[in-house]
This record gives sequence, C-alpha cells and structure tokens, in this order.
Amino acid sequence: MTASLATVSYIGATILFILSLGGLANPETARRGNLFGIIGMAIAVLATLLGPRVSPAGYGWIVGALVVGGSIGLFAAKKVQMTQMPELVALMHSLVGLAACLVGFASYIDTSTVFPTEAEKSIHEVEIYIGILIGAVTFSGSIIAFGKLSGKIGGKPLMLPGRHWLNLLGLLVVIWFGREFLHAHSIQAGMTPLIVMTVVALLFGVHMVMAIGGADMPVVVSMLNSYSGWAAAATGFMLSNDLLIVVGALVGSSGAILSLIMCRAMNRNFISVIAGGFGTGGGTPAAAAGGAQPAGEVAPIAAAETAELLREAKNVIIVPGYGMAVAQAQHTVYEITKLLREKGVNVRFGIHPVAGRMPGHMNVLLAEAKVPYDIVLEMDEINEDFPKTDVTMVIGANDIVNPAAQDDPTSPIAGMPVLEVWKSKTSIVMKRSMASGYAGVDNPLFYKDNNRMLFGDAKKMLDEVLAALRA
Ligand code: NDP
Repeated sequence: MTASLATVSYIGATILFILSLGGLANPETARRGNLFGIIGMAIAVLATLLGPRVSPAGYGWIVGALVVGGSIGLFAAKKVQMTQMPELVALMHSLVGLAACLVGFASYIDTSTVFPTEAEKSIHEVEIYIGILIGAVTFSGSIIAFGKLSGKIGGKPLMLPGRHWLNLLGLLVVIWFGREFLHAHSIQAGMTPLIVMTVVALLFGVHMVMAIGGADMPVVVSMLNSYSGWAAAATGFMLSNDLLIVVGALVGSSGAILSLIMCRAMNRNFISVIAGGFGTGGGTPAAAAGGAQPAGEVAPIAAAETAELLREAKNVIIVPGYGMAVAQAQHTVYEITKLLREKGVNVRFGIHPVAGRMPGHMNVLLAEAKVPYDIVLEMDEINEDFPKTDVTMVIGANDIVNPAAQDDPTSPIAGMPVLEVWKSKTSIVMKRSMASGYAGVDNPLFYKDNNRMLFGDAKKMLDEVLAALRA
C-alpha cells in the first residue's frame, strides 16, 4: 500500500471513529455507532499493517500478537459478568497506560532513527518524557481503580498528611528530572532521570486514586478513560502515527467532557475531586461505618402487597441501581413494566447519572431488556414528578436515592443531587438487607413513614411480584 493510500485510509477511519462517538451518544443509534467503530478499527489496523512503515518481515510478530491479544480479549468479554464490566474497563485503561510506557522506553533506546537537527531530537525526547509520564499515571491509577471497583481495595479515601504538598513535590521532581533528561548526553545518562520520573508518576497515580472517596469514583473512572486517550495520543506522537494521535485526542477529550458531566451530576468540583478526599471532611469517611447505623424502624412489605399497590397505582416510577445489575433483574423489570402498561398504568424509569458502577450502566441494561427508550428519563427530567407519583419502586439502588445528600451537610455525599423518591405517595425499596451502598453511608429513606422495604434478591422478589400481578 502506498503512503498516500494509507493516509486516505487513516482519514476514512478517523471519520468513522467520529461517527461512532456520535452514534454512541444515543441508545437508539448506539448499535450503529459500535459498527462504525468496528469498521474504522479494522481499516486502521489493515492500513497500518499494509502501509509503508511496516516491513513484511515483521508480519509474523504482529499476527502472533494479534492472536494472543485477540484471544485474551475474546475470553475476557465472554467470561466477564455485566457487573464486572467497570473493573474490566479500568483494567483495559491500565493496559493503554502500560503500552505508552513501553513504547516510550523502546523509542528512547531505539537508535535506528536519525534526527536531522538537534531540535527535532529534543522534540522527540519531550514526546517520550510526557508520553511515559501520562502512561505511568494512567497505568497505576487504573490498577488502583480496578482494585476499588472490584472491592479488593476499600472505598475509604487514603488521607496522607500534607497530601497536596506531596503531589506538588512530585510535580517539582518530574520537572527537575525532565530537565536532566533533556540535557543527558547519552542514552545511559538519560535512563536514570527517565526511570526516576516513571517511579514518581506511578506513585502519583496510586496516591491520586487512593485519595478519592467511594462516592466520587465515577469521576475517577471517566477521568482515567480520558487519561488513557491522552496516553494513546502520546504514543502516536512517539511513533509518528497520525491516526493514533487523532484517536487518542478523541478519546481524551470525550473522556474529559464526560468527567465534567459526571462532576456536574454529583455537584462536585473537578479539581477538588482529582486533588482527592473531597466530600469527606467532617463527615463519616466513605465506607468507614462498614454498614448502616440503625436509625429507626423500617416497615417491610411482601411481594403480593407490592403487586397490589402497583395494580392500584396510576403513576409508577422505577429507579434502578447497582443491585438490579447484580441480580440481573432487568428482564423481569421489563415484563412487569409491560404488564402494568397494558393495564393502563403510566410507568417510567428515573435514571441517576452515577447509578450502577459505570456511566450509562442502567441505560445499557434496560436497552438490553428492550425497555422502550421514551419511558427512560434522566434525573433532571423526572425529579419534579415524584410528588405526583403513587408508587416508586427502587430496585437495588441506595446512594442515588439517599435524602441525606440534601439534609445532612456532614454526609460524605452531601450536595450530590439525588432522585427524590421519598416525595412520592409510597416508595418501595428492594434490596437484600440494611447494608449501605457504595459510598458506605446510612440511608434515612428506609425509615420514612411512606417507605416500605421489600427484602430479598431483586430478581427473586420481582419474579414473585410478576407472578402476583399475573394471578
Ligand atoms: P449503591 O451501591 O448505592 O447500592 C446498591 C444496593 O444494591 C446496595 O445497597 C445493595 O444492598 C443492593 N443490592 C446488591 N445486590 C443486590 C441484589 N442481588 N438484589 C437486590 N439488591 C441488591 O448503588 P446505586 O446505583 O444506588 O449508586 C451507585 C454508587 O456507586 C454511587 O455511590 C456512585 O458514586 C458509585 N459509583 C458509580 C460509578 C458509575 O460510573 N456509575 C462508578 C463507581 C462508583 P443489599 O446488599 O442490602 O442487597
């Protein structure tokens, strides 16, 4: 393939990636968006393989790597449960970061490229230094995010004394050694500052994510998504691959926009979140309580009574959360919705922006179960309707319906907008126990007079409700 044909293919792939991102913005066009992405990636890989920069002598290695990587990806995608998806995504981000580091070190020790001027050599070294810096932060930060999302590391933020000063010190060390690196006269001499900076960047990544409290994790997930894009773009600069630069920038900027949207949804300041420990000062540190503190009596309800309330209702709102994903209850939710709508009940869904464990988690599950998109509403669109609602069914959600976010300024989730389910005539919370949610805080909703608790696995309880509705 000639260089110009490779460039045209790259432009085609770029357009497909942009169309893919556009398609993924809406559930109705998401499938098409995915397809554009797959075609774009296939073109990108083929154009790179057949392009002028890859010699056929290397095909064996490339095909070997494709087979190994593709098999691991296929195995992971088939084996991983829907609830483990966020962890998998975090792990994938870490691989992008690791790749950027490895490519950076390889580019540095590669002596085959001859730079015509000293300035071009320096620019290449700056690319390597920044690429490894972003890659190392992404790698270690994503590994810690993986640990936190999978529950292997506790959600409690790590509050080291003088943590902001530590971060600042790290930044100064990185700048100082960057200067040393650029002034090094040999590869051996440049290796020491490069390794020191990599270690500092790895430690910074660990510290940054360890300092973030449970309820702020969604911002971290989208932020690491953005970092992985910048790491890919940096790799593109190191390899002089235009497509990788463009695609990395697309992922980096869309991840950054998503982080800002998540921050807005949680009423958090972006800088405060990444500086760590936001929302924990004065309040109970996230997950520190290790479960709910008793705060009154709760009123349990049975599945048959729940069905009775639903049958008599005119307006019903369903609020799904992480527990619906765990129980895989979305298909039963759909069956119940269909039945109630056939009986003339107005059923709608209220989706919190951080419900579940990844952005759009609930939308994906409901789309999979074929719930019509037009009855799935965002928090802002539905929050005013709770006072006019007869029954709100909260399915495996907890933090996103916690009134303490509004009423208790000392709560770790204070200020986070929540779905005001307690304003409906009756709310029914479906969960297995009185355990707290991801943020580890008690939920006063459970003790409200108009709230009922339907204890049990969401799928099992919904099956019973469905059977009672059909009876
Ligand atoms: P929560 O984690 O607050 O609550 C989920 C509830 O589901 C738990 O209290 C649990 O209670 C219940 N549950 C678990 N398994 C089942 C089951 N099989 N059947 C019925 N109930 C079950 O989830 P929310 O969706 O309300 O809130 C999301 C939280 O996750 C927020 O704090 C958010 O910040 C955080 N987060 C979100 C991310 C995102 O991108 N969306 C990423 C990372 C974190 P019990 O054990 O008693 O059943």
